[in-house]
Amino acid sequence: MLRRTKIVATLGPATNQPDSLDAIIRAGVDVVRLNFSHGSAEEHTRLAALVRERANTNQRPIAILADLQGPKLRIARFRDQKVHLKAGDTFTLDASLDKESGDETQVGLDYEDLHNDVGEGDILVLDDGRLELEVTGLHAQRIETRVLIGGKLSNNKGLNKRGGGLSAPALTDKDRADLKTAAALGADYLAVSFVRTAEDMHEARRLLDNEGSEAHLVAKIERADLVHDLDELDAVIRASDAIMVARGDLAVEIGDAELVGVQKYLISRARTLNTVVITATQMMESMISSPMPTRAEVSDIANAAFDYTDAVMLSAESAVGEYPAEAVAAMARICLGAEKHPSTHQSKHRIHEGMQHVDEAIALSAMYAANHLEGVKAIICMTESGATPRLMSRIKSPLPIFAFCRKEVTQHRVCLYKGVHSVAFDADELEHALVNQKAVDELQRRGVVSEGDRVIITKGDYVNAQGGTNTLKIVRVGADIR
Ligand code: PGA
Ligand code: MN
Repeated sequence: MLRRTKIVATLGPATNQPDSLDAIIRAGVDVVRLNFSHGSAEEHTRLAALVRERANTNQRPIAILADLQGPKLRIARFRDQKVHLKAGDTFTLDASLDKESGDETQVGLDYEDLHNDVGEGDILVLDDGRLELEVTGLHAQRIETRVLIGGKLSNNKGLNKRGGGLSAPALTDKDRADLKTAAALGADYLAVSFVRTAEDMHEARRLLDNEGSEAHLVAKIERADLVHDLDELDAVIRASDAIMVARGDLAVEIGDAELVGVQKYLISRARTLNTVVITATQMMESMISSPMPTRAEVSDIANAAFDYTDAVMLSAESAVGEYPAEAVAAMARICLGAEKHPSTHQSKHRIHEGMQHVDEAIALSAMYAANHLEGVKAIICMTESGATPRLMSRIKSPLPIFAFCRKEVTQHRVCLYKGVHSVAFDADELEHALVNQKAVDELQRRGVVSEGDRVIITKGDYVNAQGGTNTLKIVRVGADIR
C-alpha cells in the first residue's frame, strides 16, 4: 500500500549533512522545510542544493518549503542569559531598555510598539506558553506585569498575547529579503507566518512574481484574530495554495482548550475550498529525545490523518532531535495504519454543490468512478500545473493518484498533496497515440497495476497546457490502449 498522508520535516543541525538527510529521505520525507527563523541565506542556499542532490541520488521527488519568520515578537536578552520568575513577582517589559541588560525585574523587547497593542488585564505568554504574565500598568514604553505562571526565562524567547490583537504586519523587512533568497534557491513552497489578511498573501504573491518564482504559497494560521473572523479566514484560504495549522503559536494565542476544534475546522475548510493543508508542531515532541512516540502522539497523528490532512509536520524533532529518521519512520507507519481504516475511503466531498470549471468536473468524476467502479487500481492524471491532481486529492479514496508532470516545479509541488505521487513524464516527446500506453506501462513497471486492472486517465487536448483537462478515459491494462 502506498502512503497517502505526506510528511514535512524541518531541517536543522540534525539533518543538514548528506548522511542524516539521506536517512530521513529513505524513511519517507516528502517535503523539507527550511526555517528562516534560523540560519543565514548562504546556509539555506547550500542546504537547498544538498536536498536537490540527495533527492536525485535517492530517486525521490522532494519539495522544498521555505518558511519565513514573520513578525514573531521576542524579548531581548538578560545580563546572565537567563532568569527565574516566580508566580506573584512583578516583571517589566520595556522597549526603551538596553537590549542586553535584562534581569529578574525587567527585560528589553525587540518590538518598539508593543505598548500600543496591550492594555491592563491582558495576558502575555512567553516561551511557547510556558510562562504567563498579566499586564498591571502601562507607563510610556514600560509594560508592568505580574507573573501568573513562572519558570526559567532565557534570551530572545517568543512572546504572544492571549486572544491575539498584536498589530505587527505579516511581512517584515527580513521576510522580504528572505523571500528573495527563497526564490533564488528555487523553493517550491513559501510559507508566510502570522498571516492577518488575504492581502498579506496577495502581497507575497506579487513579491514572488517580481522574482520570477513559481513557488506556491502556504498561509500559516497562527493568529487568534484570524481564526475568529471566519470570512477573512476563508479569504486567506482562497488566496493561498496551502495552509498550515501552526499549532505552536496558535495554541498560545487561543488557548489549548479550543485548539483541536479549530484544527478540525481548518482541515475541513481547506479541503472544501480546494486548498491543501499541513498539520504542524509538537506532533512527535517526545521523540526529540526518545526513539518511540507516546500513545498520545500516535493518536494525534492518526486523527489528523483520519480528518484527511494532506501532511503532518516535524519541527524540532527533525531539526535538532536525537532521532530524526525514527520520527519520520514512525509518522509514516502511523499514517499508513490510519489509512487502512474504511472511514478514510469514503467521500461526501461537495456532494450537494455545483461546479464552475470543466477540470473540476473531470477531477471529481474521475474520483467518483475510481471509488465506485470495480477493478480500478490507479488514476493517471496528466498535469501541467498540478491543479487537477490537487482537486482530485480533496476527495477521500483508497486509490493512488499518479501526477504525470513535465515541469520540475510541478513534480515537486504535488509531493505535498494527499494520495498524489509524482511521475516525471514529458508527453510532448511521444507520439500522440502512444501517450496513454506509455503512462500505463510506467505504472506496470512500478508494480502498481497488472494485466486486467482498470486505470483511469485524465488529460487535456493539448497535454502540456495549463487548465485544459477535459477528458476522462478508463482503460484496461493489457488491452490495446490509445
Ligand atoms: P513556527 O510555526 O515553528 O515557525 O513557529 C509553526 C507553529 O507556530 O506552530
Ligand atoms: Mn509559528
